Amino acid sequence: MAEQTIFERIVAREIPAEIVLEDDELIAFTDIAPKAEMHVLVVPKTSAYRDVVELAAGDPDLLASMVRAARAIALERAAGDFRLIFNSGASAGQTVFHVHAHVLAGADLTEESL
Ligand code: 5GP
Repeated sequence: MAEQTIFERIVAREIPAEIVLEDDELIAFTDIAPKAEMHVLVVPKTSAYRDVVELAAGDPDLLASMVRAARAIALERAAGDFRLIFNSGASAGQTVFHVHAHVLAGADLTEESL
């Protein structure tokens, strides 16, 4: 069996996280090393998908749920606008191979855009 990722351990409450949203299929918590005023990770509870490419192919409805969750979190914790990032693959910066979306918001984002 593949080794558990850190996100599976957060879902299982084996390690703590500052959880901002949770439902049957998703959990969202603040990133331990925030890159913006608001930096939340939206993570499906299933560990079936390593990255957004696999998720889009396997469960597009779950991907849509992640986008809706990002929007709800940005509305609740920031002004509503947000940046959504999926790192896909190690050379793109992915370090945790359990699909997740980075939701970034806050004033800092206007300083530096992609
Ligand atoms: P990736 O680089 O895979 O796209 O993103 C992984 C993210 O998970 C990073 O931004 C990193 O700071 C975050 N992270 C890694 N370990 C933990 C942890 O134990 N708790 C929380 N809240 N975030 C973590």
